[in-house]
Amino acid sequence: MPEAHGSGITVIGAGIIGICCALELAASGKSVRVIDRDGPAEGASSGNAGVISPWSCVPQSLPGQWKNIPGWTLSKEGPVALRWAYLPHLFPWLVRFLASAQASRIGGIADAILALNRDCPELYRGLLHGTDHEDLVRDSSYIHVFRDVRHADPELPQWALRRERGVPLEFVSGDQVREIEPALSPHYQAAVLIGQQARSVNPARLGQVLAQKARSQGVVFTRALVRELNLDVSGTFNIRTDQGMFSSPRTVVASGAWSARLLKPLGVRIPLESERGYHTVFASPGVTLNNSVLDGDGKFAASSMEMGLRCAGMAEFAGLDAGPDYRRAKVIAHLAQRMLPDLNAADTSEWMGSRPSTPDSLPCIGPVPGQAGLFAAFGHGHLGLTQAPMTGRLTAAMVCDQPSPINITPYRLDRF
Ligand SMILES: Cc1cc2nc3c(=O)[nH]c(=O)nc-3n(C[C@H](O)[C@H](O)[C@H](O)COP(=O)(O)OP(=O)(O)OC[C@H]3O[C@@H](n4cnc5c(N)ncnc54)[C@H](O)[C@@H]3O)c2cc1C
Repeated sequence: MPEAHGSGITVIGAGIIGICCALELAASGKSVRVIDRDGPAEGASSGNAGVISPWSCVPQSLPGQWKNIPGWTLSKEGPVALRWAYLPHLFPWLVRFLASAQASRIGGIADAILALNRDCPELYRGLLHGTDHEDLVRDSSYIHVFRDVRHADPELPQWALRRERGVPLEFVSGDQVREIEPALSPHYQAAVLIGQQARSVNPARLGQVLAQKARSQGVVFTRALVRELNLDVSGTFNIRTDQGMFSSPRTVVASGAWSARLLKPLGVRIPLESERGYHTVFASPGVTLNNSVLDGDGKFAASSMEMGLRCAGMAEFAGLDAGPDYRRAKVIAHLAQRMLPDLNAADTSEWMGSRPSTPDSLPCIGPVPGQAGLFAAFGHGHLGLTQAPMTGRLTAAMVCDQPSPINITPYRLDRF
């Protein structure tokens, strides 16, 4: 017999998205169980760059960007890597990714990203309130640094797209940015400062503190691997796991990059890729950054965190099951030493995690078509840490049949 969950809600996945959904559902008075094969915030949500970015609204796929992909992929130090044997599997997603770069779609996608991001620092502060760990989220600028001044031209589409949406941007010289971040290399010629941002100084601990808050509000965390979902005749979802069967009338799939795999046997096909990223942490860096800093050429972000200086980036396409290729983390480490000439690289650790990426840079939030009582909260790609609090609010509103705080049409699954 399945362990029934009365009128409660089951959330599958205890990453930052599942945790924020559980917190908001509990705040709406629901009884909530979160199932994960691992502990809270141990997936992509643990090793990210910690940028909490209300203003990151530029889609991953931009007009004309396809021209950069071969060079990025073939360069040993490029930000994109592909396991060639995986190309046939990736191809349909790649076609959709390139198709989403139509000029007529970009503005709408940017607006929809912004709607999810906009209030994230305040929402995190609200969630952390009363936990005694409020300092896990700090005020920050997001500084993009460039060796070539032409990349900081305000007329470039990526800056124009932000300016048109009121993003607080400041274009400064290399010398000016070094006054803010003295550790940066003298080779940077220009920078763009994005203000009114925040950063997490320990993304894993942020997730764990919020999970603990959820527990204190009655949320139950169960460690189990979900093998199958199916709807029984009474309209209840049965969740078959390696620890037995659970059931609940309403279920949220927040399983990050693994979400599409769980939905496929139900006949629901979502183009979701594992966009694998890496980090290197320098445990005794000897230098400090005061903000999140993105190297615009190497496309990795660096931030001083509780465990040292973390540099995170790379987009590697190799599927969900391939083992990590830590040469990517070593490339980041090498580029980090160029970014910060006095960086002490004696004591490092490496990590790989899967971004759950859709081809149009928008997450999937909403009812799963044809599956009454099943909801999606996944596909946040490069911005899951940023978008988790608003995703939690949207999901709780939907599941509890309450009005949504923002229009959810752009995130619906039936757009695919
Ligand atoms: C290198 C890198 C840097 C990044 N930097 C940033 C950044 O600075 N700012 C930002 O906003 N975002 C960033 N991101 C993106 C962000 O980390 C992700 O979008 C976010 O963590 C996704 O959260 P999630 O909860 O959906 O997924 P996850 O954290 O991966 O959680 C999914 C959970 O589902 C569980 N699960 C999956 N399948 C099953 C199953 N069958 N049974 C039981 N459990 C299951 C997994 O165990 C996992 O715990 C970065 C990502 C990477 C890789």
